[in-house]
Amino acid sequence: MPERIYNFSAGPSTLPEEVLSQAAKDIVNFNNRGMGLIEMSHRSKDFIAVVDEAEANLRELMGIPANYKVLFLQGGASTQFAMIPMNLLGSGKSAAYLNTGVWAKKAIKEARLFGDIQVPYSSEESNFDHVPKDGDYTVDPAAEYLYFVTNNTIYGTQFPAMPKSGKMLISDMSSDILSREFDITPFGLVYAGAQKNMGPAGVTVVIIREDLLDRTPANVPTMLRYKTHADNGSMFNTPPCFAIYVVGLVLKWLKKLGGVAAMEKINREKAAILYQAIDSTDYYRGHAKAGSRSLMNVTFNLPTPELEAQFIKEATAQGLDGLKGHRSIGGCRASIYNAFPKAGVETLVAFMKEFEKKNGGHSHGDTPPHHIPTGQR
Ligand SMILES: *Cc1c(COP(=O)(O)O)cnc(C)c1O
Repeated sequence: MPERIYNFSAGPSTLPEEVLSQAAKDIVNFNNRGMGLIEMSHRSKDFIAVVDEAEANLRELMGIPANYKVLFLQGGASTQFAMIPMNLLGSGKSAAYLNTGVWAKKAIKEARLFGDIQVPYSSEESNFDHVPKDGDYTVDPAAEYLYFVTNNTIYGTQFPAMPKSGKMLISDMSSDILSREFDITPFGLVYAGAQKNMGPAGVTVVIIREDLLDRTPANVPTMLRYKTHADNGSMFNTPPCFAIYVVGLVLKWLKKLGGVAAMEKINREKAAILYQAIDSTDYYRGHAKAGSRSLMNVTFNLPTPELEAQFIKEATAQGLDGLKGHRSIGGCRASIYNAFPKAGVETLVAFMKEFEKKNGGHSHGDTPPHHIPTGQR
């Protein structure tokens, strides 16, 4: 087996090899200080420079205006499910949430602990195979914000454009942050767990509009108040030093590559290669509906669950790892985040063609009886 294989894992996921090599060196001896990055005080000049540079690069890459704060927090994306409504909904206030998958549902459940949560749209009946278009739902004028998940990691769906509702937007971008350009100004808050598209697990990036920092009700604990972290440059307590540092390396890598616009172009190319392979045969069936297809997670089924198991097993043996779909929908999922190389997508497509040929492939137009994915039974 080659030293590094193609890793299609949905998260934690593949990182640029040059980032890993650099991190491996710095973990032993950082900046020639005779000690490793993870052994250093978070108040040291060297580490403060790491945080400052990561923030500056993120601001530059995403075009984040000065009236937004960038926070490096712990607790994963899942802590934000509660922290957002806890900070932004006072008693008697309401918010609207779009239910496009498990991560949205979990956020809705937590938000209901803090306010009146309306769900003007849900794609649950069709096993979350699409996201809504503007006009498919109406947001109550009284809602404080509209919450949605830009990319639904499990189902392989993604909002092709950000909703235009006139409401302040809040979004979980855990699985597609930095993958494409967008205008942050309609957003009050954007967040992402780092482990899909930005770095290792352990840090959650929160980008929050400054004026929202003063909305937090008085009974919210210190560590769960955005203002605590904003006022202290994410250093109120010991931050996740190593994770922030690796995120910083990934941001430098992304800048060198040409930034988000250049990355988006590559992401579109990679996804197109894979969707074209799926569309060119009836042997493979995409889960996500056209118009909702994700550039990051490509979900598909084979004619039977037995063939899917065989496909995953043989792919793994050939160094194509992590293709098993999430247990809630079964089938296959190829996560092709920013750091996933185009050559890996081409290798997968070649494997798919070969597998179809060997295992009773049907030519285009010939419709085999297709099994119903587990989640839809
Ligand atoms: C993975 C994922 C999460 C959960 O992240 P944790 O850091 O494990 O809490 C939340 N939202 C989305 C969209 C995800 O892909």
